[in-house]
Amino acid sequence: MKKPQFESFRATSLYCKKCATAMPVRERLLLVLPEKEIFDYLCTGCGESVGEREVTASEKFGGVDGLSLLG
Ligand SMILES: [Zn+2]
Repeated sequence: MKKPQFESFRATSLYCKKCATAMPVRERLLLVLPEKEIFDYLCTGCGESVGEREVTASEKFGGVDGLSLLG
């Protein structure tokens, strides 16, 4: 699995195949898992999903501190 380039920053505009251009996107919380959350990016023009992003617990809680919750 290749990681998408936009993963490291908050995307506001992504290429949409339907609109055939870069479009502003809406972020939607798609899935919540114990160790990560997955966000879906929807084109504001046509509503098509144009990408997704995973936010891991370590990213959210700032590293190893989050692990102590499991112990
Ligand atoms: Zn579109």
